[in-house]
Amino acid sequence: MSSGLCGRPAAPGPDSVCICHDPSPAKDGNQFWAAVKASSVDNRSSFQEDYDCTNFVFPTFDGFSIFEDKRVIFTEASFLKGAHFKLCRFKAFRFESATFSGPLYFADAHADALTFSSVTFEDCVVFARSSVGDADFMWAKFKKRVVFRSVTFSRSAYFFETTLGDEAIFDDVVFGQRESRPCSDRGVVVANFRNAHFVQPKLVDFARINESERVHRGFRASFLNTDIEFVRFTDIAWHRNKAGELVLEDEYDLEQQNNNPEAKSLYGETTDELVTATYRRLCKNFDNSRQYDLAEDCYVGSMRVKAKSPRTPLSQKVIYTLYNWLSAYGSSYTRAATMLLSIVVVFILIFPLHPVGVQLASSPASAPLYWPMNKSPRDWSRTMAASISANLAIVSLSKNPVYLPASTLGKNLALVEAPLVALQTALLFLALGRRFKR
Ligand SMILES: [Zn+2]
Repeated sequence: MSSGLCGRPAAPGPDSVCICHDPSPAKDGNQFWAAVKASSVDNRSSFQEDYDCTNFVFPTFDGFSIFEDKRVIFTEASFLKGAHFKLCRFKAFRFESATFSGPLYFADAHADALTFSSVTFEDCVVFARSSVGDADFMWAKFKKRVVFRSVTFSRSAYFFETTLGDEAIFDDVVFGQRESRPCSDRGVVVANFRNAHFVQPKLVDFARINESERVHRGFRASFLNTDIEFVRFTDIAWHRNKAGELVLEDEYDLEQQNNNPEAKSLYGETTDELVTATYRRLCKNFDNSRQYDLAEDCYVGSMRVKAKSPRTPLSQKVIYTLYNWLSAYGSSYTRAATMLLSIVVVFILIFPLHPVGVQLASSPASAPLYWPMNKSPRDWSRTMAASISANLAIVSLSKNPVYLPASTLGKNLALVEAPLVALQTALLFLALGRRFKR
């Protein structure tokens, strides 16, 4: 028997390849798996793989349990009938540039690391009830249906420049640890879908992400340059910052890039425009699916990126900051109403302070009213009533006020209060109008 290119005995035939590399779909499955078992790498160092199946041609759908708890390289391998990895624990599988001509099932399996970069999946792919430490689907092409159901990505999940050609379902998926680990800083798992290509975005479905159990952190996703306008998002526990704002990973990327312009990102440049566009696409998505609160969250996100941009002039930054402060960029009528009330209350409290004072308009010679010291509750309420009356007169621009600011300082304060309250009232109506337009 002659020797094949890899050193193994060649199968009879003109190509002189061994049974592992023989591309013929008719080759004997039992002989093939016996040869694979025999190819186990001996005397390996702890960092080496247990099996090197580079360029192997797998003729059967089953039989993969021999790789239980192993490190295996499947680079450029062909899976003619697909592959069924079931009820197993695997250390690390590398499938770079492999081809699955049949379906891939990965059910109830646990893997420390799975690399599917540049893999072509000609048939459907199902990952069910599995957990993966590091998952890498960069540049992979899914041509048919792909389902990730009850899957946990516990360390990393890269779908960078991945192509989803047909229906794609991410259901009950956790990016992070499933068990609740309070106060643990580990477990920031980013779902990186940057530059991903959805051929049929309407068939891409994200449901119950990071929702199923107590997950320490929300769904922290990167969707830069990805067409997410028509993707379905239901019951997603989105990542939020300490202020409770929905934040996409792309915004953190942008911040990091702005803080350290020298460091080159692996995934290309992140710009303000790209990040705001991503928020806007997600905003449209939520608008279409009537998830208005989330739509507002994304609108706020896009404004926040503009406000924080180093290219925004300082004067505009001040306006953005005030706009956020007074009405969350016009998106929150509750914030606008609270701020309006606060402004009025502050002025009501300021006016009876010494040396401002309030005074009866009808008798300018009378002594001004101040917050009384060591006096009865009746004096307090009388002063309060006078201040409320004076303030109402100011904000309503009344021609015949009952009480007035007693001093020049008070009159100047009134000149500030009247337009401030008018402005905040306008912001409140704008925010209300924005909400009811939806
Ligand atoms: Zn060979």
